[in-house]
Amino acid sequence: MAGLYSSVHALPFIPDNLTVAQFMLDSQHEIQPTRQPDQPCLVDDQTCKAIGIEELRNMTRSLANVLSSRYQSKLSAKIPLDYPVALWAVHRLGGIVTCSNPQFKADELAYQISAANVGLVIVHSTLLETVISATYLTGLPVDRIIVLDPPPASYGHKIFDISTLLTLGESQPFPHRERILRSGEGRKKIALLAWSSGTTGNPKAVAISHTALIANILQMATHNQVDKDRWQHASHRRGFHPGDVTLAVLPFYHVAGLVLSLHFSLFCAMSVVIVQKYDFLGMLKSIQLHGVTHLIIVPPQGLTLCKHPAVKDYDLTGIKYILLGAAPVPQEIQEQLCHTFPQAQIGQAYGLTEMTATLSMLPVTQEQGMLGSAGRLLPGIQARVVKADGTAAGYGEPGELVVRGESMALGYFNDQKASRETFKDGWLYTGDEVVISRSRDVFVFDRLKEMIKVNGYQVAPAELEGCLLAHPDVADCCVVGLPDDIRGEVPLAYVVLSSRASKRITQNEGTLGAIIQGITHHVASHKAQYKHLRGGVRILDAIPRNGSGKLLRRVLRESAREPRISP
Ligand code: AMP
Repeated sequence: MAGLYSSVHALPFIPDNLTVAQFMLDSQHEIQPTRQPDQPCLVDDQTCKAIGIEELRNMTRSLANVLSSRYQSKLSAKIPLDYPVALWAVHRLGGIVTCSNPQFKADELAYQISAANVGLVIVHSTLLETVISATYLTGLPVDRIIVLDPPPASYGHKIFDISTLLTLGESQPFPHRERILRSGEGRKKIALLAWSSGTTGNPKAVAISHTALIANILQMATHNQVDKDRWQHASHRRGFHPGDVTLAVLPFYHVAGLVLSLHFSLFCAMSVVIVQKYDFLGMLKSIQLHGVTHLIIVPPQGLTLCKHPAVKDYDLTGIKYILLGAAPVPQEIQEQLCHTFPQAQIGQAYGLTEMTATLSMLPVTQEQGMLGSAGRLLPGIQARVVKADGTAAGYGEPGELVVRGESMALGYFNDQKASRETFKDGWLYTGDEVVISRSRDVFVFDRLKEMIKVNGYQVAPAELEGCLLAHPDVADCCVVGLPDDIRGEVPLAYVVLSSRASKRITQNEGTLGAIIQGITHHVASHKAQYKHLRGGVRILDAIPRNGSGKLLRRVLRESAREPRISP
């Protein structure tokens, strides 16, 4: 096919009769490196508690045993060491997992619980209150909550804590019935509902099958092994290898953390240090304490690594690989990291939830990558670049990236309309404007879709617009991303004031400043911190729309990018 791009490397066999749990814990793929006998799988950052593969296997089985006797449904989780245990225990039973951001307010969580049809929530006691409020909003019974650490004594509800459950599970006379998939069934069976607003609208649950997740791990692993003979000499060891240690600073509720830091690192027989809550100085300490070799981080974290004065107080020479992704990576950050960590390989990965996580990555054969390149297409990914006029772009020509491959999601859960718009004829329309070079390097130029990325997290403008319109001072609005040196982008709201607000101003009952403050506070009290209107609120007489009333978001996005002249 003309204009079709793909990796020159072939994919190995992808098992489609295994759940993710069986693939990760019970099987050894032909390309999987062997784990050193004494090397732990998971290490808790704070307690340094380490567990090996056998213990991990037993814990997931115990939890599956006890869950199978009580619950057979979907699960939402926020756990440090226990996160993979809960995830894979549910997979063993054939259940689906969806993960939530612990910053969420009750109505954000309630939205996820309803949209994903959640039947069971696993949570830490610190977040219990939010979860209870969300269950009240959705009607999910409170005895469908499992708390990972003992809840406060004053807590009146019937709550199960995880250590009791694990002990119960170990002694369960009837072990759980492991979900066995027929050949090919893994391609349709959902493992994970991850969240993305896609090209437009509110956050949607992206249905990722067991085989898609396994395929994405194998795609990255194959990429990691290209030319491995050339690089296996100790001083030139590139990529991810047994004995290496990843510090999982990216949250597991986002696919970058879940798929790359956790699944991919473990598949490569590495140890994963699980961080409960990210803070920069804590990260520096942990790198030194745990002998961390690999960091998978978002660009703002890379920027802080280059600029923070405390960096020189720590011995970070053990770092061999820094992989940046989940948001655009400014070239200056890549350059500065090369300078600050001369011993390390500075890589970049690009992808999206709708392709499970990653579709291009820096090849291991390249020292620091081509500046600006988001890496090369992974084996098994086919790509087209479609110009605005619908024709195929050649090498070096910009257009929308359209991809397909075994790691492609099944679509948006319970949302056929949105699925049809984004997943067409077996291809995924990424909403990203890219250029592919002759070397098959992907350069991401711009985002054609509405989505805003704050510190690598997705913010859906439609969600904030819905929240703004619920405020009595707002008649119309449009939210766009304002470029930000530290966070990448921050949400900025263009607002048309309601007649109530205008009247208050003319009657001197309130100042414009106070009204803007009220609007900003309204969003802050309903939404998680990273969605707050850090880009500000700008007042307009009208939101630009075309003849048929369609919002001209691009006009405002471009206006937000123009430098502002202070009065
Ligand atoms: P998510 O589904 O949250 O992983 O977000 C995916 C989106 O993040 C992509 O469609 C891109 O717009 C953006 N993105 C991810 N990685 C990169 C990268 N390396 N360079 C530029 N944009 C990226």
